Amino acid sequence: MRATRAIIHLDNLSQNISRIKKAVHEKVTVCIPVKADAYGHGAIPVAKTALEAGADCLAVATADEGIELRKAGIDCIILVLGIGLPEEIPLIVGYGLTPMITDREVVAALQLESALQGRRTSCHLKVDTGMGRIGCLPEEAADLAAEICRNRNLVLSGTATHLSVSDSPLQDDEHYTTTQLARFTQALEHIRAAGIDPGLVHASNSGAIISRPDAHFDMIRPGILVYGYQPSADCPTRIPVTPVMELETRLVSVRSLRAGSAVSYGRTWVAGQDTVIGTLPIGYADGLHRNLSPGLKVEICGDTYPVVGRICMDQCMVDLGPHSRIKRWEKVTIFGPGLVSASDVARVAGTIPYEITCAINNRRVPRVYTGTPAYTAEKR
Ligand SMILES: *Cc1c(COP(=O)(O)O)cnc(C)c1O
Repeated sequence: MRATRAIIHLDNLSQNISRIKKAVHEKVTVCIPVKADAYGHGAIPVAKTALEAGADCLAVATADEGIELRKAGIDCIILVLGIGLPEEIPLIVGYGLTPMITDREVVAALQLESALQGRRTSCHLKVDTGMGRIGCLPEEAADLAAEICRNRNLVLSGTATHLSVSDSPLQDDEHYTTTQLARFTQALEHIRAAGIDPGLVHASNSGAIISRPDAHFDMIRPGILVYGYQPSADCPTRIPVTPVMELETRLVSVRSLRAGSAVSYGRTWVAGQDTVIGTLPIGYADGLHRNLSPGLKVEICGDTYPVVGRICMDQCMVDLGPHSRIKRWEKVTIFGPGLVSASDVARVAGTIPYEITCAINNRRVPRVYTGTPAYTAEKR
């Protein structure tokens, strides 16, 4: 296996789930989003660990992601959060995935396919209360719920919305979340007034789990918190969580360079003094974005060192300083639970930790699972 690898600390994942469960009412159902290969951590080991740690169900973005879990023997409820093509509906029904209902066309297609396969498909109604992405308008919710309930092959087992600024402490944003929740509550009232049970009611992503107990309802959908990060740097309150992914590599070259020596493409960095330059076998093709240099620091032997010069496709360079005693083959941590987190990396790149862990290319960077005996040997 190559030097560059992503260690996935499943013990941290379990601990994060326990801490989230402790922060909400004990009756609240926990649905863990494992979309995008579990934010880059590996969907199957993460899903299995999450269920063992007390998660009740899972959520994915696409039918394919749900099928991958089913093929691995995972038989819990799997919500499909995104809208697929009509061609994907036979798969949703056949694999017993739980789609989000956003409009009548989806209801009709699901009803037809479920009848064809002789199945009852459990669905969740998705209400757009201000995210502006997918879902019916709040005032359409009751009619759409009735439409679902009229169908013998469909079951309305949940009603959901998604909050767009629940991670923001700004007063204006807090008001917006309050407005979204009011619209959602009103939609629920209309559904109930029509004599329909909305099923499991859910609205909370990580931001709302932390800051809006009034948004927990029957079920929560904690994503980034489970993977060990706060949803935003300026969240006023937090649930203590520990990063799960540790991206590490090794120094494959350690060389002394003279003052005035240029490093990497474009010779954007020139040594101001005689120094020691280390080379790491990781680059933007692995998911270490080119715009992280200058700015990125990596951890070696308990200290941090700057990446200097442009990040190449497969390699990058670190200034170890003039008096370095660090040896070739030493371990280097790009980010993880230690001195540098994916949040720190995100700040340098002008993005969020979600994008940093998702970007680690799983065709090139092997995931190595530790922390849970059953998966320690499991590699991809
Ligand atoms: C991704 C996603 C979540 C999880 O969001 P986090 O900010 O990672 O907690 C919850 N709900 C929906 C609909 C999502 O798409």
